[in-house]
Amino acid sequence: MTTIIREIREQFNPAKPSECIGQVELLTLDETKAVVSAAQAAFEGWKNTSSVARGEILRVMADLLEQNIDKVAETASREMGKTKNEMIGEVKRGASILRYYAQEGMRATGEVLPSASEAKVLYTKRVPLGVVAAITPWNFPVAIPLWKIAPALVYGNTVVWKPSIETALTGKLIGELFEQAGMPINVLNVVQGRGSKVGQVILEAPEVKAITFTGSNGVGQSILNTAGPTNKKIQLELGGKNAAIILADANLKLAARLTIEGAMKQTGQRCTATSRVYIEEAIYKEALEHLIAEAKKIEVGITMGPVSSIGQYEDILAAIEKAKSEGADLVFGGGPTKDKSEGYYIDPTIFTNVTHEMAIAREEVFGPVLAVMKVKDYEEAIRLSNDSEFGLSASIYTSNIQKAFDFINRSEVGLVQVNDETGGAEPQAPFGGVKNSSTGAREQGQAAKEFFTTMKTVTINTI
Ligand code: NAD
Repeated sequence: MTTIIREIREQFNPAKPSECIGQVELLTLDETKAVVSAAQAAFEGWKNTSSVARGEILRVMADLLEQNIDKVAETASREMGKTKNEMIGEVKRGASILRYYAQEGMRATGEVLPSASEAKVLYTKRVPLGVVAAITPWNFPVAIPLWKIAPALVYGNTVVWKPSIETALTGKLIGELFEQAGMPINVLNVVQGRGSKVGQVILEAPEVKAITFTGSNGVGQSILNTAGPTNKKIQLELGGKNAAIILADANLKLAARLTIEGAMKQTGQRCTATSRVYIEEAIYKEALEHLIAEAKKIEVGITMGPVSSIGQYEDILAAIEKAKSEGADLVFGGGPTKDKSEGYYIDPTIFTNVTHEMAIAREEVFGPVLAVMKVKDYEEAIRLSNDSEFGLSASIYTSNIQKAFDFINRSEVGLVQVNDETGGAEPQAPFGGVKNSSTGAREQGQAAKEFFTTMKTVTINTI
């Protein structure tokens, strides 16, 4: 008899750090290897299950998620700090993603092509890859895993999913709901553990044919180093430093409201969060007043939750201190809302007098911090907004249609917004960035098919 000794991790509530909200058992490295092998063994049966039947399980899962919305939202909110309302919105989005991919089981997976020969039938057919690894962050503990898992499954792959350890309880709950929805054994496998340990085992496993990852640039790079030289397919969704431009002809109230929402929603912990804004000098003073007025409306602890962990808390406060020491002017917020023993709350923070060389203009903060810069005109704004290693999302606020189209053409990002905030991606629309924000095929919508399948070209000679 073998006795398996697993590490037990306790999860704490970032809104009340002394409150332990549950425990999770972490898998050992040998168990992780066994899970990957089991996913490989389950592949043949799942691949040969009709896509309509695969989709039906996703539909049942969508229903179950909605029926359990309160429990899932409460667990995730207590685990990573997003407000319950924000979390309810995310769970609803998760259900929409599942419904979209449930329908995908009934859609075409190839096309019939004309052949040069009358006697030949020529067509393409999408086929699954095998075992897909999904490695996900804590900031969208429901939506991001589902937008990877749902397409991977409906196209016939089996999945090894490693949720962030910070949101392990939410991950466990999602796994249990999939089981309840009728997912056959070993088709979706939840591996709980640290990225550097079990994550590494998953990346190195020969059975894993594709890796879809969302997280930091540092870990993304180490995934490329480990799995890049192998023949695995890799999709990385990484950081952002998303810019907004407010032009003199914009509706300033709308622009200010959406810029602050873009920056502060979910306590700024979104890869698509607005983190720098360029304002034309003609309306700079007025626009800044509107931005501050909008920031004042945020009620920390009610409409804005704490940041997710002590690590996040310290990193964000350090970024704020660095901005001050580099000479940026703090015009709103700028520190902890209360003592950290009462929750990892940070005030919404706005800096002005920011130059483009400062870290606050260039590095991802992943917290409720906005850098404001004055520009001479649109040309300077577009040049500076493109001057970034990242290229995830960007917004322009203007009523000038020529400038809006020019921005759509010249903005070096994957998601372009006109008179809307930098965040937001509907399940049917492709999602992803350029430059150091993304590597590999787009996620969501029909774009997901590209990553989670490969193509067969079939020729039938009827003679
Ligand atoms: P992270 O990179 O620390 O962790 C992400 C996941 O990778 C976790 O599950 C973690 O356990 C795992 N991991 C860590 N080390 C690993 C290793 N060596 N091998 C395999 N797996 C490993 O990121 P995070 O702190 O959870 O999330 C925040 C980051 O995610 C931010 O940089 C944010 O911009 C980014 N993000 C990007 C998007 C996007 O779509 N572009 C969306 C959300 C978050």
